[in-house]
Amino acid sequence: MRSLLLPIAMLVTSSIALPSMAVVSEKSLDDAQQLREIALRSHLGYDIVESLTVEVGPRLAGTPADARAVAWAEDKFAQLGFDKVYKQPVKVRHWERGHASASVISPFPQPLAITALGDSVATPKGGLTGEVIFFDSVPELKAADPKRVNGKIVYIDARMHQHREGKEYSLAVAGRSIGSSVASEKGAIALIIRSVGTDKSRMPHTGNMRYQEGVKKIPAGAISTSDAMMLMSMKKRGKAITITMDLGTTAFQAKTSYNVIGEITGTTYPDQYILIGAHLDSWDEGTGALDDGAGVGITMAAAKLIKQFKPKRTVRVVLFANEEGGLIGAKEYRDANAKDLHKIKLAGESDFGARSIWRFDSQVHPKNLDLMASIAKVLKPLGINHGDNKAGGGPDVSILPAKGVPVFSLRQDGTDYFDYHHTANDTLDKINPEELRQNVAAWAVVAFLAAQSDEQLLPLTINTNLDK
Ligand SMILES: [Zn+2]
Repeated sequence: MRSLLLPIAMLVTSSIALPSMAVVSEKSLDDAQQLREIALRSHLGYDIVESLTVEVGPRLAGTPADARAVAWAEDKFAQLGFDKVYKQPVKVRHWERGHASASVISPFPQPLAITALGDSVATPKGGLTGEVIFFDSVPELKAADPKRVNGKIVYIDARMHQHREGKEYSLAVAGRSIGSSVASEKGAIALIIRSVGTDKSRMPHTGNMRYQEGVKKIPAGAISTSDAMMLMSMKKRGKAITITMDLGTTAFQAKTSYNVIGEITGTTYPDQYILIGAHLDSWDEGTGALDDGAGVGITMAAAKLIKQFKPKRTVRVVLFANEEGGLIGAKEYRDANAKDLHKIKLAGESDFGARSIWRFDSQVHPKNLDLMASIAKVLKPLGINHGDNKAGGGPDVSILPAKGVPVFSLRQDGTDYFDYHHTANDTLDKINPEELRQNVAAWAVVAFLAAQSDEQLLPLTINTNLDK
C-alpha cells in the first residue's frame, strides 16, 4: 500500500504548488458533509453517555464499578456493530474514599465541606486536629521555614477563574498534586487545599495527588470554594484557627482494569489507524458525565456514524483505563503497542466536557497540513475555526507525539468545565444534547476525512528528520 502512496508524497516533497491536489477526493468531501449533517441530527452520542451514567454511574479505577464499566463498553461497541471489539489489560490502583468530614473547632466552630484527594492516606481513627498555617501557593509553601509548619495542618488557597481554555488549571493544580509531600517534608500533619475549581458552591473537588517517595504520607483533602472563602475571612480576624478532619480512605491491592477498544475496519488500508477516544474511568462522587462520559459518547457515536460511509483506513476508538490515576491506561497502551504505533496515522482524545467546539488544531507533519486545511473547511459550518499546528491531542493521547504519532485537538468551550470537574455535580443534566451533537459531527468529520485521504500521513519523527 505504501508504494502506491509514495508518488503523491514525492510530488508534494518537490514543492510543486498543487492546491487541494487530491488530499481528499470530491466524493469523500461530499460524504463528509453528508456525515456532518447526519451527526447533527443524531441522538446517538447523548444516548451513549446517558446509558453509561445511568447503567454504570461512577466508575473509579479498580473498583467493582470500573469492572462494570468495562463490561458496559464491550457490550456497547458490540451493540453498535463495531467490526472488532477487544480489551487490553492495565494494572490499576484500587483506592476508595470512605467518609470525609472536617470542622473548625476554634475560634468560630463550624463544619466544612471536604473531600479526600485521590490516593490520600486516611487520618488516624477518630481524625486529627491541628492549627492551620495558610499559603497561597506551593512555591510560597516551599519557601516557608519548617519551624513554622511543623505539627500544623497546611492550607493552600490557590485560586482559579473561569476561562474558555481552562488556563489557570495547570497552575492551581500543583497544590493538589504535590502539596502534601512538600508540606510533609516540613513536618505538617495534614494538607487541606481550596478546591481546584471555578464554581461558587459547597461541592469540594477531588482529583489525583501523588506522594513523593521517601516522604512521610500525610492525609490530604479539598474544601469547597465557599468554605475556602469563609476560612480566609476567618483568618482575617487574626486568631489561630484549629481544624479537625477525619478521612476514612482505604488502599486495596492493585487490580486489573482494561482499555476497551472498538474498530470500524478500513476498506482500503485496514492496517492504518485513525485513533479517537476518551477515558472510561471517572471519579466516584459524580457520575462522570462531563469527565469523561461525554468523550465516550462523542467518539463512539462518531465512529459508528462513519461506518455507513465505509472508511478507507480503520477508525479505532480507544476507551482508556484509569486516566484519573495519571494516564495509566494510556501509558500501557503506548508501551504494549510500541512496535505498531507507526500505524496510527492520526490520534485525538475528547476529554474537556460537552460544550461546543470552537477550534480545530493539529500536530502533524507539515506535508499533511493541506489535508488539515481541507478538513477545517468541512468543520467551518459548525462554527469551528482552524487553529495552529501545536495541538496536544488530549490527556491520554498527549504522550503519543513523542513517539511520532500525529495528533489533533477539537477544542471545546471550557468556561464552566471546572465548575463541575471532579465533583458530585458532574452529572448528565449538565450536558446540552445540542452541543453534544456538534461535537459528534466534528469528530466524525475529522476522523472520516483522515481515514479517506489517499495522501500518505507521515509520522512526526520523519518530520523532525526531514526538517533538520
Ligand atoms: Zn477527564
